[in-house]
Amino acid sequence: MAGTIVPHAQFGICGGSGTLSFAFPAGLADERVTVLAEDLVFDTPFGRSPAFTHFSVDGPLGTRHALAVKMHGWRRNVKRGDASLQVFWVFHEAGVRKVVADGGVGSLNHLLDPRDVVVPNDFIDLTVKQDIYVRGDHLLVMRQPVCPDLSRHLYLSASPAFPRVYRRGTYLVTDGPRFETPAEVDYMKRLGGDVIGQSFAPEVFLSRDIGACYAGIYIVVNYGEGVVKEWEHAEMKSIFFDESETIARCVLDTVAEADLQAACGCMDLRKPSLLGLPEEPR
Ligand SMILES: [Zn+2]
Repeated sequence: MAGTIVPHAQFGICGGSGTLSFAFPAGLADERVTVLAEDLVFDTPFGRSPAFTHFSVDGPLGTRHALAVKMHGWRRNVKRGDASLQVFWVFHEAGVRKVVADGGVGSLNHLLDPRDVVVPNDFIDLTVKQDIYVRGDHLLVMRQPVCPDLSRHLYLSASPAFPRVYRRGTYLVTDGPRFETPAEVDYMKRLGGDVIGQSFAPEVFLSRDIGACYAGIYIVVNYGEGVVKEWEHAEMKSIFFDESETIARCVLDTVAEADLQAACGCMDLRKPSLLGLPEEPR
């Protein structure tokens, strides 16, 4: 229902292609979870939001609340940059302090194979989205773009569940929605990316903009064009359907167990802006 007051949540979850085929979190049938509300839609300064699920999770450090959105909030006829602003405006209103994301990615690094899992610690943003901020009143230092504490929880949860999990890597972000050409992949490999996809940014810096930590878990669903060998659509499809529940469980474990008071240092990298930009006269 639009116009609803945004409920409180410490965690925001940007579900991606890793959990798309899966009703998160109800489908996990996890006794730690209580779904409080579904299909929550809010009117934001950036347009009407996508639908959120509000739920609580019981963990060793107490009960925490979360708001989850599917597929990064992307919808047909809504620009992806606008969708991200709507999602993060809602997270900010909710008081979110930790953002956890998942997704499927292509490989750039030839050491990676489909079904490998990467918890990236850095990114290269090749998107051309402009003026993407919810608050815009802080200097966002990207020395440590990803929260080391949230990443550690994602890595620890994924390690027993997947044959190969990497605790670091560079996520190269493109606009999409199309895939890349062999020449583009060759260029992007030279830039130093390990995996390629269409999320991670702006979520990673919108998190810092609203004063939240960010980390994501990404499963390789295909080789980049020209990397190792041609990828297969059937294998990509089977990864989407076979692995989504396991990825969802890693996200849920992290929400249940991450310490809201962790000394991760992320907020030290959000400084008061030195630029006071004038408002446009109305
Ligand atoms: Zn942090």
